[in-house]
Amino acid sequence: MSTTYNPYENAQIQFDNVAKSLGLDGGMCEFLRVPQKELHFTIPVKMDNGTTKTFQGFRVKHNIARGPAKGGIRFHPHETADTVRALAMWMTWKCATVDIPLGGGKGGIICDPPSLSAGEMERLCRGYVRQIWNQLGHEADIPAPDVGSNPQCMLWMMDEYETITGAHYPGVITGKPVGMGGSLGRTEATGYGCIYVLKSLLNLKGIVPESTTASMQGFGNVAEYAARMYTELGGKVIAISCWNQADSKAYTFRKADGCDIVQLVGIKDAFGSIDKEKAMELGYEVLPGDAWITQDVDILMPCALENQITPAVFPSISKQVKILMEGANGPTTPDCDPLIKDRGITVLPDFLANAGGVTCSYFEQVQNNMNYYWDKVEVLEKLEYAMTKAFRAVHELSETKSLYMRDAAYVIAIERVANAVKLRGWI
Ligand code: NAD
Repeated sequence: MSTTYNPYENAQIQFDNVAKSLGLDGGMCEFLRVPQKELHFTIPVKMDNGTTKTFQGFRVKHNIARGPAKGGIRFHPHETADTVRALAMWMTWKCATVDIPLGGGKGGIICDPPSLSAGEMERLCRGYVRQIWNQLGHEADIPAPDVGSNPQCMLWMMDEYETITGAHYPGVITGKPVGMGGSLGRTEATGYGCIYVLKSLLNLKGIVPESTTASMQGFGNVAEYAARMYTELGGKVIAISCWNQADSKAYTFRKADGCDIVQLVGIKDAFGSIDKEKAMELGYEVLPGDAWITQDVDILMPCALENQITPAVFPSISKQVKILMEGANGPTTPDCDPLIKDRGITVLPDFLANAGGVTCSYFEQVQNNMNYYWDKVEVLEKLEYAMTKAFRAVHELSETKSLYMRDAAYVIAIERVANAVKLRGWI
């Protein structure tokens, strides 16, 4: 029997468990387990065929005690208010875990980006900003790209905001193209950030990356750059699962002696789908979409979707797997955490592992506000420092208090946010 998971309920369950163990008072728990502000709105868009289509948009601010809300906008046909709420909540914990002075936010638009023309996409992006521009701003709420959106979308959004307000505010949105206020290193930041954290963990365990193998879900922005850096360090990616637009199915591409990441990047499209026919010509085995999870590897890297590691699939995970590196948001369901813990698999939890994106977005905003831009080496050095520091704090707490890594990350994040709420006198 399949179980339906609601990401918002998952996020609240994870929060409740840690809040209880921290002994947070009832008022604080009540406040932190729900968003502070939500906007639900419609966006009418003139389509190329002359009709007008109405899209549903969301923007959620979960918590702004530590700074302005920060979080991407997802463009997805199955976007829901609950997904956006969950992701906004995870952004609060993510920013607090890496200790950047930002709160948690998220946005979404129910739409199917591959089916929209560039003109329709531009009108949708501008329409989104027109509905909520007075709630945005580098001191209030700063969106960014996420699933289905890209730097061009962010630039249209920034331009709409600046047109409405009549001045230059590049820091209103991050993930812009380089040269138009974007930061060097932002494209790589989330995937590289995952591997900075993984590298620190392997180091502490006395394992060299060259001796490890991995299997991953996704070959989009996060997965591609995680795979690039992991293989540059000497690790081998044995299998990659991704969605195939052409036949609306997922496939796993497998090469026992290791995938050639640069070669696969050459045959993927803008939505992170690998061309099946070309992959077969290059000698890749093509397996069902969920085969990535059953591979005999040392590290599993879910870098695509939420709710992928569940009690139903857990028994099919190879006993060889020792590390679960969560590049995606919410890839593991809370009812699977006890099984992972019992088997002794080390989790690099999502809101630590994939925090490189928001950390670099923060750097982008700092550069925008200074109107002075760093070179890529400087950005990546700062990113590695921030990610490694956050990892060490979480790992140290997990060792000293014998906590599961996810719980240790939650303890650090929730304590920081609760403290900010208390200091402000809100509770
Ligand atoms: P993306 O849109 O660039 O890529 C998504 C990938 O998932 C694609 O390769 C797609 O083929 C694959 N996919 C979709 N459905 C699939 C399925 N059923 N089976 C297998 N593969 C499937 O997205 P992204 O930016 O790489 O984000 C991936 C995840 O990471 C999301 O959970 C996102 O919220 C999270 N995240 C992204 C960033 C960022 O900076 N991009 C930052 C933090 C977290």
